[in-house]
Amino acid sequence: MIQYDYLIVGSGLFGATFAHLAQKRGMRCLVIDKRPHIGGNIYCEEIEGINVHKYGAHIFHTSDKEVWDFVNSIVPFNRYTNCPVAQAPNGKLYNLPFNMNTFYQMWGVKTPEEAESKLEEQRRDAIEKMRADGISEPRNLEEQALTLIGKDIYEQLIKGYTEKQWGRKCTELPAFIIRRLPVRMTFDNNYFNDSYQGIPIGGYNKLIDGLLDGIDVMTNTDFFSDRKYWESIADKIVFTGKIDEFYDYCFGKLEYRTVRFETELLDTPNYQGNAVVNYTSSKVPFTRIIEHKYFESFGNSVYETPKTIISREYSTEWKDGMEPFYPVNDSKNQNIYEKYRLLAETESKVIFGGRLAEYKYYDMAPIIAQVLTLFK
Ligand code: FAD
Repeated sequence: MIQYDYLIVGSGLFGATFAHLAQKRGMRCLVIDKRPHIGGNIYCEEIEGINVHKYGAHIFHTSDKEVWDFVNSIVPFNRYTNCPVAQAPNGKLYNLPFNMNTFYQMWGVKTPEEAESKLEEQRRDAIEKMRADGISEPRNLEEQALTLIGKDIYEQLIKGYTEKQWGRKCTELPAFIIRRLPVRMTFDNNYFNDSYQGIPIGGYNKLIDGLLDGIDVMTNTDFFSDRKYWESIADKIVFTGKIDEFYDYCFGKLEYRTVRFETELLDTPNYQGNAVVNYTSSKVPFTRIIEHKYFESFGNSVYETPKTIISREYSTEWKDGMEPFYPVNDSKNQNIYEKYRLLAETESKVIFGGRLAEYKYYDMAPIIAQVLTLFK
């Protein structure tokens, strides 16, 4: 029997925003999620007074004022600015993204002019070496990166990190993965170029709780455990799970890459002095260490909690049972997805949305923008 206008499968940012806007328009919604909690990948677990980003560090950033105003109307955001640091194979620390601080740390250059000339020299050396080896066009990611930025930055800050991320040598990765390597000729360590960024004050759960306020929600509830029943209780379905699973993998399984987290509670108030430290050496097995308290504590307020929590991130091949994080957008997977997408277009009762149903990596802000647009 129809009890709801919408059954929303998945309580992540897509499902929760959809439910919020639908309810505001007087529609009856039920949100179900197979996980034991709401929020999808932005869910945080509170340990020792620290919000731990259980599914990977999430930093909200956007230049879309409508999206920023919308999320801030649910919960105010703090002033967190992402300024990651990289620990390089040579043991030194460098600021990211590549900017005047990085160039000073790498070469001791102090002005934009000196940095430009050093970068130019590095690029020229790489291109001349390739020409001498009879290579006219970059054939792989390594050669592409060398021609764009030169040997020092490639070897210290790009090579090892990229190889760990993709699980393959840079010489085996296609050149097109790196089209540009933006450099900033200013002393500016802010990772994002967006107008707005931050973390919800009190953590991401406040955002999801606010979005789902007053809406019927059931966790530990898998749509596929009783599909017929769930399909019978609502006029329409908003599906934010895996699209291949929705169609019983009839065209084959879509592949992902994932991240394994090794999370540790440490008996020190301040472990690494920053939220994000990348490890760019291939000899270190993890890609980054996240120190969670830094997303919500500023300056010496990190000392207000006596302990800290860190997560080491290991980029890993995805297998059944693991969290499907990053779609593998190669032609094999894109072809499979395209078949599912065409099938999805024929559905009149189902709206497919979010990163799993669209098999596409989305940041949080574009997900919200997309749902806002749907309701316009
Ligand atoms: P999800 O959050 O995955 O929600 C989907 C929900 O559907 C899940 O809760 C799942 O349990 C549920 N579900 C699936 N199948 C079923 C089923 N059969 N029955 C019931 N429930 C089901 N974005 C940023 O802007 N900044 C960042 O710093 C950032 N960092 C990220 C780091 C990582 C490691 C990852 C993977 C993503 C990151 N993102 C970041 C992207 C962000 O996580 C996504 O934009 C956002 O989670 C998308 O929301 P969603 O609702 O589409 O998906």
